[in-house]
Amino acid sequence: MVSPEQPIRRILAGKCYCGAVEYAVADAFLYAANCHCSNCRRTTGSAFKPFAGIEREKLKIIKGDSELMIFGEEGANNTHCVTCGSLLFSVVRGGAFVHVAMGTLVDDPSIRPTHHIFVGSKAAWFTIADDLPQYEEHVPPSGPRGG
Ligand SMILES: [Zn+2]
Ligand SMILES: [Zn+2]
Repeated sequence: MVSPEQPIRRILAGKCYCGAVEYAVADAFLYAANCHCSNCRRTTGSAFKPFAGIEREKLKIIKGDSELMIFGEEGANNTHCVTCGSLLFSVVRGGAFVHVAMGTLVDDPSIRPTHHIFVGSKAAWFTIADDLPQYEEHVPPSGPRGG
């Protein structure tokens, strides 16, 4: 049976700082944003966290399945490398989706962050210098899809 034409999906590689953990994720992210909340600032040690959301089953751990440090619960957590501490992705929405920390991608995804969220709790020392829409907290229902 010939299936209808489907776009060829690229698979993107990602890994932690030390290389103990590697993952593969489809280049089919549903949304991407920069989160300025204090949790994302602390887990990344950065001004904000660029993340991209996708269904959980579209991300596979290729190497280092036993090297994961999962902070949180099965359906809501931050998944790090246990050795170097890199935040690789967060499991969200009851485990149905993951938010990939875009800084851990090796390959260039098609998607780009389209907005800033939790700007209300942004670091005072950081100035947003682009023209992307900014939201105090989550994106309101009428806005772009939020994370
Ligand atoms: Zn590591
Ligand atoms: Zn956040």
